[in-house]
Amino acid sequence: MKEIKRDLEKFAAEKFDLIIVGGGIYGIMLLLEAVRRGLKPLLLEKEDFCGKTSHNHLRTVHGGLRYLQSLDLFRFRDSIKERRWFLKYFPEFTGVLPCLMPLYNKGIYRKSVFRIGLPVNDILSFDRNFSVSREKHLPGGKVLSKEKTIELFPSVDTNELKGGMVWYDGCLTEFQGFYIAALKLAVQMGAKALNYVEAVGLIRQNDEVSGVKGKDRESGKEFAFNAPVVINACGPWSRDTAGIFEKDYPRLFKKRKLLWNVLFDREALSSHALGLRSKAGFVYFFHPWKGRLLVGSPEKLVEKSEAETVAPFQKMEEFIRDINEIVSGLGLEYKDILRVYPGVLPAEPDGSFSGRPAFIDHHKNGGVKGLYSISGVKFTTARLESDRVLGRIFRHKKAISYDEMLSKKEICCHSMAYDWQPNGEDDLEILKKIIKEESVVHLSDLILRRTSLGDNPPRALAILAKIRSLFDWDNKKWDEEVDLLRKQLREGFPNQKPRGAGNR
Ligand SMILES: Cc1cc2nc3c(=O)[nH]c(=O)nc-3n(C[C@H](O)[C@H](O)[C@H](O)COP(=O)(O)OP(=O)(O)OC[C@H]3O[C@@H](n4cnc5c(N)ncnc54)[C@H](O)[C@@H]3O)c2cc1C
Repeated sequence: MKEIKRDLEKFAAEKFDLIIVGGGIYGIMLLLEAVRRGLKPLLLEKEDFCGKTSHNHLRTVHGGLRYLQSLDLFRFRDSIKERRWFLKYFPEFTGVLPCLMPLYNKGIYRKSVFRIGLPVNDILSFDRNFSVSREKHLPGGKVLSKEKTIELFPSVDTNELKGGMVWYDGCLTEFQGFYIAALKLAVQMGAKALNYVEAVGLIRQNDEVSGVKGKDRESGKEFAFNAPVVINACGPWSRDTAGIFEKDYPRLFKKRKLLWNVLFDREALSSHALGLRSKAGFVYFFHPWKGRLLVGSPEKLVEKSEAETVAPFQKMEEFIRDINEIVSGLGLEYKDILRVYPGVLPAEPDGSFSGRPAFIDHHKNGGVKGLYSISGVKFTTARLESDRVLGRIFRHKKAISYDEMLSKKEICCHSMAYDWQPNGEDDLEILKKIIKEESVVHLSDLILRRTSLGDNPPRALAILAKIRSLFDWDNKKWDEEVDLLRKQLREGFPNQKPRGAGNR
């Protein structure tokens, strides 16, 4: 299998068909869609691949149940199609997520509504399992009795409980593995990808794009990369990048909503993911992540100047209070927080989440020819949106099918249980291969973004001595790398250290 190489000088001497700026899920899906069309793309990511918003989501590959409520059939069908894409083509990294919502017959959350709503959802998603392997099939939804609801979720609040509803979604069981598998697939097909290279300027010839100036954040050197097309896929930074390249486009990200998920040092409350409503009516999602308790996603509108990746202390306190109220006896405290996963998503002027990605052809807006920007709203539909974007830019390029693309490719998956430890040479070999093949520049790349080791911080820190020999760094460099890892494990956490991240 081909390696992801950081060969900046060589790439600067090549001519690419397009340069994608931003290596989150949108950047990687654009890369995949580009090679599917026989194009030669280059990806530039200023930090590590998928280390920002795309690291911090709730890992749910959404079907469209929620879009039925607003009768948004277009989004509903897009989600069904893309959920199938994940389950069909990347079964190693995806799973079936049974979800349960207890019903108290309040508002629309009543058994009578879902006795109709769930069959409608199943009918409109009739093709959800087409050519998906049987073990990844999503069963139809159902309304449950009170007794069955209690059986599935023993600590449910039984006061006025009428029953529950169950539906099935997809989830990314190994999201780091999925990203790197998709990236390696694109690289096998001719793409190049550079982490720790920041796009610092657009190169133009007359009024047309001819490339991007990239700064290697490791060496500080600048390089000119050549291509007639540039796509800015910088997520929450897409307006900044548009500003650097040409000018700011406010509609790329009208308002900014900070939201975050928290991994608690507790066992999951049920084998099912739980949708539970607070007294104020906010629905929290409890994802049984590798058997642990991952809860999201409180939200807050933020100004650009506010620290974007830090969950506000007061909001975090409210969040923990809410959860303790919803599940009595849970008694969560700050010290139970293992990781905080924050991110910023685009919102509308009224504060609601933006429902659709924003796409800008800069030339059509009076700007430079060959420059495009996209800002997306979900990782679930990132592949489809990328397909649409490239379909518009490279109208005459025919794409091969994913069946064809994946039939000859080798996909490698290292699924790691929550308590997995490298014991013995074979396990160390796995990590060694990742370091060699997957552009691991820092220790934190390996722990947080090539494997799921960092999703269990105490374990991640405990194994450091075992993996020290895999890096040929001197002690000073090693200590710096450990400090960087600790810092990243604490990212998003307000004022206090997550458990396990404090002791070396
Ligand atoms: C808490 C939370 C929960 C979520 N849950 C779900 C969910 O369950 N299901 C779902 O489908 N979606 C979910 N989402 C939404 C989803 O995560 C995002 O829509 C998606 O990850 C956005 O990807 P992106 O590539 O646009 O942005 P990012 O992942 O942020 O990628 C942008 C990249 O651009 C890079 N960059 C910026 N400037 C430059 C530059 N000058 N040069 C080079 N690189 C640059 C950044 O470093 C970054 O890596 C959730 C989001 C959040 C925050």
